Amino acid sequence: MTAPALRPRPVPGLGFQAIGAEEEALVLDVLRRKEPFRYYGGDPAKPPPMTAQLEKEFREYIGTDYALAVTSGSAALEVAMAACGIGPGDEVIVTAWSWIACFTTIVRVGARPVLAEIDESLNLDPKEIARLTTPKTRAVIVVHYQGVAAAMEPVELEAHRRGLYVIEDCAQSLGTRYRGRQIGTWSDIATFSFQYNKVATAGEGGMIVTRDQRLYERAVRMSDLGSYRPVHAAQVPAKEPAFAGGQFRMSELTAAVALAQLRKVDRIRAHCRALQARVVGRLQGLKGLKLRPVADPAGDFGFEPYLLLDDPALVGPFRDKLDARNVNCGQRTGTYPQYNRDYVKTGLAHAPGASPFREFKDWPAPGYRPEDFPRTEDLTKRFIALPLGWLYTEADADYIADAVLAVHREVLGLGC
Ligand SMILES: *Cc1c(COP(=O)(O)O)cnc(C)c1O
Repeated sequence: MTAPALRPRPVPGLGFQAIGAEEEALVLDVLRRKEPFRYYGGDPAKPPPMTAQLEKEFREYIGTDYALAVTSGSAALEVAMAACGIGPGDEVIVTAWSWIACFTTIVRVGARPVLAEIDESLNLDPKEIARLTTPKTRAVIVVHYQGVAAAMEPVELEAHRRGLYVIEDCAQSLGTRYRGRQIGTWSDIATFSFQYNKVATAGEGGMIVTRDQRLYERAVRMSDLGSYRPVHAAQVPAKEPAFAGGQFRMSELTAAVALAQLRKVDRIRAHCRALQARVVGRLQGLKGLKLRPVADPAGDFGFEPYLLLDDPALVGPFRDKLDARNVNCGQRTGTYPQYNRDYVKTGLAHAPGASPFREFKDWPAPGYRPEDFPRTEDLTKRFIALPLGWLYTEADADYIADAVLAVHREVLGLGC
């Protein structure tokens, strides 16, 4: 048998690969007006428009009431938790399989992260909420991992009946829907990121959305040194007392790029979904592997289908053979389990008194060790990610499906 022709490795990337004339025009507009700060510029009567316009289009796109732009997705998490009043003595549930910031921002506000197992969807197992809630639990952070929504109906039910806030971390999944509604509308408060690797990017940047006026006002105050300026009071009249906030304000330059990118999200999503359909349509019912289950297949973003192999020993050879065929196939995309990260192994915050783990005599305590997460350990050793991107073509998608089928035959010993 002759080996199929090797196709050049496709160039990965989502929003940043779509940067073009639209981003340039909006950035130039900010520079030519000499107004890089969102709250005032040349004309004291007329605040600069870019961040305000981004917030307006963002809340309309998501279908929610309030949006607040901040400096990053991590800042958005910190601000969202502060808005909810979460601090020392509190516990926040978050999946063990999640991005660094999902853990560290909980520590930053002084609360204790409580790690939860994922299920085959690679998102939070909603049953974990019942297992992990204590009288100190204040919130659940639900991460929508890589363009696939978590099962928000059971999460909301389990969390709200226990009086917990639900915080959606949508950093990786802007534009993803669940049961016909955008993610970010299924919680009390939700966060997004415009970092380089995300669906839409300005290099850095973040967004918070909510329908709750009190949370909106407190988020604004946390993001702007405790103040609450007229542009916000025009949307929600001030009711909350000032408190010592941080400084997480978005610049007009960031907003210019993020606005142009936001307007491209649905085009990027349609592109990815079309390619994903070509790939996964041909990978159904294969022996020894399955695809990542998606709670709402009509709603996912489609930039990264996942193969879940039955046998973890086959993952290495499977990936190596795909890689040799120039198929991009990360086993993990920057994410790895929180309990394996250095800051969990040490349990340290920036100062000893700020660590939420200082009361534990032995560290790592139960709940922070690999052996406490058998399902997360098992699942994350068995998957292969097949990223798709803005520059991928239909021919790339077909080639990926061909390659997976060929490697599947080889690795599972099914002959040629
Ligand atoms: C990227 C990311 C963040 C943090 O966003 P930054 O803008 O990089 O600070 C938070 N949560 C998740 C799930 C992410 O993927």
